[in-house]
Amino acid sequence: MDRYIVPQPPQIAVPVLGGGLFPVRRVYCVGRNYAAHAREMGGNPEREPPFFFTKPADALVTGGADTPYPPATENLHHEVELVLAIGTGGADITPAAAPGHVFGYAAGLDLTRRDLQERAKAARQPWDMAKGFDASGPIGTIAPATVIGHKMAGRIGLEVNGQLRQSGDLRDMIWPVPEIIAALSRLVRLAPGDLVFTGTPDGVGPLRRGDVLRGAVDGVGFVETRIGL
Ligand code: MN
Repeated sequence: MDRYIVPQPPQIAVPVLGGGLFPVRRVYCVGRNYAAHAREMGGNPEREPPFFFTKPADALVTGGADTPYPPATENLHHEVELVLAIGTGGADITPAAAPGHVFGYAAGLDLTRRDLQERAKAARQPWDMAKGFDASGPIGTIAPATVIGHKMAGRIGLEVNGQLRQSGDLRDMIWPVPEIIAALSRLVRLAPGDLVFTGTPDGVGPLRRGDVLRGAVDGVGFVETRIGL
């Protein structure tokens, strides 16, 4: 007999290059990890270090599926990001040991209800409803580090309807990947199945219903989705 008194939620999973599924436990995100983006958001990267927030695991959109235009916003923004997939957990991980905890990498989109975020900032309220709404995290196939190596540099970009909107380089991260893992693992114990969206370069902007998005990280892969009508 089933002990669960409502239907058990499904295990969220992301397809892996070469086959198999990466089961998702938690989704962490880094805020303001590229200086030019921090400045376009009105911040000062010299004074304010990057920081973390989260999305629910079931906010991910996989397999190139359409992303519905979310409710309660008139300013949905794109943020293309490199995503880390944690394969080996731990706490207090050193930067030198960090690559050994990464299973692989993917391209992802940290979709943001920018109007709700601006209101939350002004009211000193949390960002959850600006960042963690349903279908706020489209993600591409995860490429294993055993296949592609570890990604410290390379072009990251986003095209909307074939036009370039964001273009940056992973080497411009304020916290490179090993520093992200070190900083996050001092705050929470990481575990297999965790994903980390590592922040967006500058050029974020609004999306419209029907827009077709293609994010790319050189040597990692793509994330593709269409915003619903
Ligand atoms: Mn972001």
